[in-house]
Amino acid sequence: ALVLGFESSCDETGVAVVRCGPAGVPQLLGQALHSQIQMHQAYGGVVPELASRDHVRRAIPLAREALRAAGVELKDVDAVAYTQGPGLAGALLVGAGIATSLAAALGRPTLPVHHLEGHLLSPFLSADPPEFPFVALLVSGGHTQLMRVDGVGSYELLGETIDDAAGEAFDKSAKLLGLGYPGGPALARLAESGRADAFALPRPLLHQPNLDFSFAGLKTAVMTTLQKMGPDPSDAARADLAASAQAAIVDVLVQKSIKAMKATGLNRLVVAGGVSANRALRAQLDAVAARRRWRVHYPELALCTDNGAMIALAAAMRWQAGLVQPSRAYSFEVRPRWDLADA
Ligand code: ATP
Ligand code: MG
Ligand code: FE
Repeated sequence: ALVLGFESSCDETGVAVVRCGPAGVPQLLGQALHSQIQMHQAYGGVVPELASRDHVRRAIPLAREALRAAGVELKDVDAVAYTQGPGLAGALLVGAGIATSLAAALGRPTLPVHHLEGHLLSPFLSADPPEFPFVALLVSGGHTQLMRVDGVGSYELLGETIDDAAGEAFDKSAKLLGLGYPGGPALARLAESGRADAFALPRPLLHQPNLDFSFAGLKTAVMTTLQKMGPDPSDAARADLAASAQAAIVDVLVQKSIKAMKATGLNRLVVAGGVSANRALRAQLDAVAARRRWRVHYPELALCTDNGAMIALAAAMRWQAGLVQPSRAYSFEVRPRWDLADA
């Protein structure tokens, strides 16, 4: 069966086609993506109303592009998936509305998807797909969670951030360093020429036995460190601060992952969400995994941040598992706030 999936929860419009059978990992046939980052950059963050309007403009042309890339026609599509939440209400409504209208016109069912389940399952589209059960480290712009995953739809929350997400910590530190929005990738780039041990930045909750995270203190520490540097810090000093901030975030993510692996007794870790693209994080987790004989799985680099492929994939995997009933009701609602455990 062919599933056409739409992602529109924030500032990326993504559309993709996956093929799925009664069993096995669904296969990505084609996708198209448009990021609104440039449009929002002037405002230093995502402007919800602008995001919604741009999803309206992009969704149908991107759907055409994804179908063309997949080499299939609209009439071949068996179900239409969309991100139901969490995310920006207006942006979600655009994707849900367009997907539902298209499905109604085709007489095909719709499949609503939880955005984080898309991130979580995205490593199944990689060349080295995981097997259940595993511990998942979900590190995105809005979430930082450790989960025990026993199968599709079986997600047990082990711990999560009590304030900022890891991606947010990257973005806020980057903003203070004048690196624009979203600054995660730019901070990671600057960090490559800096010394990670130049500044001792806080690693909150690191030695607590629980699996929770806290990153809000990091931006304050970055700010005070910058103030001490004076009005015109050298490029080397800025690179050192970027490297130290990245090290503080990565260190906590790695240590808490080790704790989660010990607590569950599992030896397979899946990392997903935008921050899973981070090279320092991958290098450290790979090193720990080699020492401890775990397997670690990541999404393809292009599928770490938001995209349509992960939404089509999650819909297909849930459908295969009999967890969603494809609906021809053609009514829809979005869930801007929605826990994955309730999905
Ligand atoms: P959520 O999925 O929680 O709703 P989101 O969809 O905005 O949030 P993602 O698209 O998964 O988040 O990821 C975006 C985040 O990933 C941003 O915070 C961005 O800075 C961060 N990010 C992307 N690439 C990197 C990188 N190489 N290093 C560090 N952070 C990165
Ligand atoms: Mg985004
Ligand atoms: Fe996301």
